[in-house]
Amino acid sequence: MFERILFATDFSEANLKILDFLPEFREIGTEEVIVVRVINLNRVIGVAGGVNVEEYVEECRREAEIKLSEVVSRVKKLGFRAKPFLPIPAGDPVVEIVKAAKESGSKLILMGSRGRGLLKEILLGSVSEGVVRKSDLPVMVIKHKTHVKRLFDRIVYAHDLREHSEVAMKYIRFIAERVGSEIILVHVVEKGEKLVEEKLKAIEEELGGLNFRTVVRYGTPHKEILKVCEEVDATSVFIGGGHPETVAEKLLGSTADAVLRHSKVPVFVAKS
Ligand code: AMP
Repeated sequence: MFERILFATDFSEANLKILDFLPEFREIGTEEVIVVRVINLNRVIGVAGGVNVEEYVEECRREAEIKLSEVVSRVKKLGFRAKPFLPIPAGDPVVEIVKAAKESGSKLILMGSRGRGLLKEILLGSVSEGVVRKSDLPVMVIKHKTHVKRLFDRIVYAHDLREHSEVAMKYIRFIAERVGSEIILVHVVEKGEKLVEEKLKAIEEELGGLNFRTVVRYGTPHKEILKVCEEVDATSVFIGGGHPETVAEKLLGSTADAVLRHSKVPVFVAKS
């Protein structure tokens, strides 16, 4: 399921810390890691004074090739087959990361996130959010400042009892059967709604045989999900990243967006 994964790197020290999590991917069957670096042309466009884009890209490529091969050797030392994604793409990082994942036949995109701080990021959106939105493949986002040391020991599975949460099930089962994860199934009943017990029961049945418990909360989904993550000391949270379905989600952004933005623990977004 995760034989080949794509690691997106901006070469920052914080991003490269994600390599410390790679040994855990061996446990879930990862054999090959493709490393992608995108030359960000969003930065060039709009610069005054007419930059020669071709020259700029060539220079960036030369620099990036050296750094990429360093990252690739670090990955190889961890016991994986590894290669850089070549030629080094130039363009919009979101578009190019998603394309590289598809073209390389990767099964998961592994990437970092600086978390939002700058007004520019709040207005333009971040690379990780863009990838999560555009990708058909699952994406695991590890915040650069996360405190967790392992990913799959204690998984919070956020389920809103709708279909798009269900897509995470197959990944959770696959991982939990290999790593022996503890799973905390969290369902939040929103204001004005009632708990649909039969649906919850059906989901619990699907988790049968795994080490899981259920937590039902009442309130705003992303807030409660994040609270539970803290309470149980989660090592990651799994969500379904469907498109916004309700009017409120379209206006305010979906729960998936909010969890991704505010979570301190790594977020696995299942797409299909
Ligand atoms: P964010 O803070 O959401 O913009 O996401 C930062 C993460 O996006 C980094 O940890 C990388 O995984 C990825 N990323 C950002 N820029 C690039 C780039 N130019 N090439 C490859 N990956 C990138």
